[in-house]
Amino acid sequence: MSIPDISHPELELSELLGRVASELDIPRTRRIFVNRNLRMEGIELIGFDMDYTIGIYNQAEMERLSIELTLKKLVQRRGYPAGIQELDYDPSWAIRGLVVDRVHGNVFKMDRHGHVGRVFHGRRMLNREERTALYRKERIRLSAPRYAWIDTLFALPEAVTYLRLTDYLEQAGRARFFPQLWQDVRECIDEAHRDDSLKSAVRANPGKYFVVDPDLPAALHKLRSSGKRLFLLTNSLWDYTDVVMRFLLDGKLAAYPTWRSYFDILIVGGAKPAFFTDRNPFVEIDPHSGKVIGEPKGALQRGHVYQAGNLGDFEKLAGSGGDRVLYIGDHIYGDILRAKKSSVWRTCMIVQELENELRVSELLAEKIQLQSELDRKRRNLDAEIDFQQLLLKSLQKLADEGKNGSATFLDAAKRHAKKTLDELRSALRGVTAELDKLEEELDRSYNPNWGPIFKEGNENSRFGSQVEDYACLYTGRASNFLAYSPLRYFRAPRDKMPHEL
Ligand code: IMP
Ligand code: MG
Repeated sequence: MSIPDISHPELELSELLGRVASELDIPRTRRIFVNRNLRMEGIELIGFDMDYTIGIYNQAEMERLSIELTLKKLVQRRGYPAGIQELDYDPSWAIRGLVVDRVHGNVFKMDRHGHVGRVFHGRRMLNREERTALYRKERIRLSAPRYAWIDTLFALPEAVTYLRLTDYLEQAGRARFFPQLWQDVRECIDEAHRDDSLKSAVRANPGKYFVVDPDLPAALHKLRSSGKRLFLLTNSLWDYTDVVMRFLLDGKLAAYPTWRSYFDILIVGGAKPAFFTDRNPFVEIDPHSGKVIGEPKGALQRGHVYQAGNLGDFEKLAGSGGDRVLYIGDHIYGDILRAKKSSVWRTCMIVQELENELRVSELLAEKIQLQSELDRKRRNLDAEIDFQQLLLKSLQKLADEGKNGSATFLDAAKRHAKKTLDELRSALRGVTAELDKLEEELDRSYNPNWGPIFKEGNENSRFGSQVEDYACLYTGRASNFLAYSPLRYFRAPRDKMPHEL
């Protein structure tokens, strides 16, 4: 071993330490947020999903491709008019967490209590009365076949296409039965994923469809260097996985001859969520031909490629499990919620939208501050109005009982209380109007139609509350681990109930 040259001790020290940062040095957009304490020291195996986790898609290009292929199939296979291919499909018409009501042709956003917030029929927002009539009379059961949930970034083009076609078909007087429209859109996009039309386009030009994350190779290397084993568990099949991963990782670090050298276990075609709930056996596949060559013999080995499988067998064959596994994925259901409900694996959710949401919040910091001040003002006015109403009632009671001889005094006091009440009510109307306008402006800055993904009105959105409930950690991209020690104790902020705030 060579002795380090200490003629420039500061330089040497920084080289030896590598990138060591305190949390405050890390921009908020690149931080890892903590819902539940997680001690990285106790983690032995770190698993990664591929699509939208290791591989960040260029969302605009991916949406354009998905919509183009879906429309083509709708026209060629389902008899939709060719004119639908000429319409504009604006990506801002969808965010993650939306719900499709197939019966009425509506799309809505929910808060964490299951309360339906804004609703669009095509590109028209329903008014309060329409919303109340449809969604406030009974509890919404999202598991019913009437509803479909838009919960991955792959699904955004479906919602955009659905909303746009609802408008088009209605205007053209060709309104189909709404559930049929949803089913047609769903089946066509599903086909595009399965029949290779979408994947062949991506494979032919990965540079167009993926964003290269320059920090990813070093982040994986850092985790490996601390002694952790890494595994890949993706639903994509081998041919696609190999092309994508080559593009993202091959030739990036000298110590890793191919992308496969970053991982100790490779599982493709994992069929999550079934991986966590069913008992599908693992099979081994030949990486050259992509053909199944048998079952794993003993432990899952480095350099081999496996397909399918299940949680129980994985833990046996990988020689580790339970809360010593951290799984990083982007799908709230398939990767996070199912893993959490079926195992004690720790989870980290990749929420690609987080960077933009945080950037917008930073830009709007002053307005957000003004919003809390107005909110406090409104609470105070509510309390003052309550008090004046009570006072007025008491004065009226005294007057009715005729107890106090001085009727003129009571009249004057009542007049004064009434005047004060009118002034307070008018101030309340003013503050409420100002607050509504500000809230609309803030919401529009995140997304012109739907607002932020984590909030609906004053509440966390259903999507936001699921991230909070099921993901131990969440962050904008997998490479954000690079800025943290691989032995870090991720500590959650202290939970607070409303009475503690
Ligand atoms: P993962 O995120 O790496 O587990 O894998 C996502 C895989 O699911 C990709 O291969 C997608 O093409 C595929 N996928 C996403 N949406 C659909 C769909 O609607 N039908 C079929 N496959 C899909
Ligand atoms: Mg994924």
